[in-house]
Amino acid sequence: MINGSKIFITNGSAEMSAGATVQAVTGENGGKKEFTTILVEKDTPGFAQRTMHRKMMWRGSDTAELFFGECRVPVSQTLGERGQGSRIMLSTLDGGRLSIAAMGLGLARGAYEMALQYARDRKQFGQPIVKFQAIAFKLADMATRIEHARNTLYTACWMKDQGMDYTAEAAMSKLYCSRIAGEVVDEAVQIHGGYGLMKDYAVERFYRDQRLLEIGEGTSEILQLVISRKIGC
Ligand SMILES: Cc1cc2nc3c(=O)[nH]c(=O)nc-3n(C[C@H](O)[C@H](O)[C@H](O)COP(=O)(O)OP(=O)(O)OC[C@H]3O[C@@H](n4cnc5c(N)ncnc54)[C@H](O)[C@@H]3O)c2cc1C
Repeated sequence: MINGSKIFITNGSAEMSAGATVQAVTGENGGKKEFTTILVEKDTPGFAQRTMHRKMMWRGSDTAELFFGECRVPVSQTLGERGQGSRIMLSTLDGGRLSIAAMGLGLARGAYEMALQYARDRKQFGQPIVKFQAIAFKLADMATRIEHARNTLYTACWMKDQGMDYTAEAAMSKLYCSRIAGEVVDEAVQIHGGYGLMKDYAVERFYRDQRLLEIGEGTSEILQLVISRKIGC
């Protein structure tokens, strides 16, 4: 029987959602909690979803709170073996971090390209603003950060493909790509001037969308914790 709730679940109340993959405490082993991964189908009695509204970003994506009130599910809905929950869930995290890192890289690239185009088109004091060194150097820094982020992410992806332990590299890529996405999009807004703050320009949405990348799938602080442990701190 499953009891509890979990907040902030992506697609948790979307039509396409078939239910939830839950990591539940199923007992104790040597004084430690035993976790098991269980699939809970949408029509299970006691299972409920509540859509969360008024997000700052990712307005097109559903986010929900899930409730489990005395949910009974058959043993056949156990994913893997009983007691393997933590191992199963942790193994999915590294891959998920690569996905968020890729979102950060793509967002940074998109913001950079918009800013470069805008700087070429926008004229002030009789010339395109891209001709001002202050703007050109911002774009040079943005391009450099994106290049570093791409290399960091591609290295981690290559390590995953080789079957190597890539936990630290996945955490580094997510930490770095999400961070530079924030820095790059901030500069992209600056290059757009007042228009960067208007909803008519996509860079305004990019500015908001970036923020989740430093929080979801492990906050930047938790990633620093993972990396520090991996490097022997
Ligand atoms: C839009 C959205 C979608 C999401 N989708 C999902 C989803 O599909 N599935 C899912 O499971 N979760 C999802 N989440 C939850 C997300 O993973 C968490 O919000 C995130 O992990 C942070 O947890 P928290 O909000 O409880 O913050 P807290 O854990 O309360 O953290 C608050 C602050 O304290 C810091 N902190 C906490 N613990 C430590 C520590 N040990 N050392 C140093 N600093 C620490 C954090 O880094 C953060 O800065 C989603 C969240 C959002 C906003």
